[in-house]
Amino acid sequence: MLLNRDRILILKRDSAPDDCAWFLEVDTTFVNEHKKILNTEVVAWSKGVKGDGPKPIVISGPSGVGKGTLISKLMRDFPSTFGFSVSHTTRAPRDKEMDGIHYHFTDRNVMEKDIQDGKFLESAQVHENLYGTSIEAVETVTDSGKRCILDIDVQGARSVKASSLEVISIFICPPSFEELEKRLRARGTETEEQVQKRLRNAKAEIEQGKSSGLFDHILVNDDLETCYANLKKILALDGHNDIPAAKNVELPLGHLVAEMDQKVLIHCRTELGRPSNNLFVLDVSSVKGGAPGRTRGLNMYAIGPFGDGVNGIKQVENNSFSAIEGRASHYY
Ligand code: ADP
Ligand code: 5GP
Repeated sequence: MLLNRDRILILKRDSAPDDCAWFLEVDTTFVNEHKKILNTEVVAWSKGVKGDGPKPIVISGPSGVGKGTLISKLMRDFPSTFGFSVSHTTRAPRDKEMDGIHYHFTDRNVMEKDIQDGKFLESAQVHENLYGTSIEAVETVTDSGKRCILDIDVQGARSVKASSLEVISIFICPPSFEELEKRLRARGTETEEQVQKRLRNAKAEIEQGKSSGLFDHILVNDDLETCYANLKKILALDGHNDIPAAKNVELPLGHLVAEMDQKVLIHCRTELGRPSNNLFVLDVSSVKGGAPGRTRGLNMYAIGPFGDGVNGIKQVENNSFSAIEGRASHYY
């Protein structure tokens, strides 16, 4: 079904309910940019996802300030709430660092090609190596219903701010330059030459992080527990327990019946031999994003008759029906 003249909605027959809505993009920003780069016709696929997903959190700060330590504490205390965006890097793994968990360790030429192909949300040269956040890294965490945490440098934070992704950004400062140096050396993961380079870069990073208004919040990591408590305050986690991730409501399996005014009527197939007269409205009027990430913002309504004898439309939210919205006939 052609929507907005820029993308075609496709519902896949016999697919899993979390994999049934796809968009074939024919005239979106991504497609048009890549037409120019590749000098040929381009189409792109993006998966349709219900709702917007939780806002990611960007954490930046100079090397050795304690970003990793704070993020580990958050992930340990709130494993169902947060997920880590695994970056790509061309630097060599440290002892105990695992590929695919701490970073995707990669070659520069492979990463440069992927950046050119538009697979990265942001990338930057940091301490002589290339680092970057792939769109897939953020989308995978968001798909699971968790809030994505990005540990990226100030240049990366600036790129994310300029992108369409809405985030909360936090800059972590050391209590003093001497203390930063002490922590970096005590970590013992870099050679003396690398430590010197990281300290030189730290000066500019701290200046930019503090002054540019780039970050929504600035935290000083003096005493670790105090800083962690302040971080939890910013994230409104004070006194809260880990909240299980809200499962994305699955889209209905079925076939298209009609489309009007960016509302698509779907008739559900019979399930396991049971007769089904379920009709759903898939509202695509607020979709955002798209290739090379997901198309988010799909909404879904069920159309009666419901068991309670009500004829109408109910929003499908968290697998329960709420808020009657109108009458089915409005959509024909
Ligand atoms: P980053 O991820 O910012 O490079 P790390 O989390 O690896 O920094 O921390 C660098 C070192 O400093 C680690 O050895 C860590 O244990 C230590 N550290 C972190 N926060 C504090 C703190 N508030 N006080 C003292 N040491 C700290
Ligand atoms: P490290 O080598 O100590 O793991 O990281 C060095 C710096 O690179 C840190 O400041 C970290 O925040 C930053 N970094 C890690 N991943 C990314 C990324 O994907 N993008 C950007 N721009 N910076 C990153």
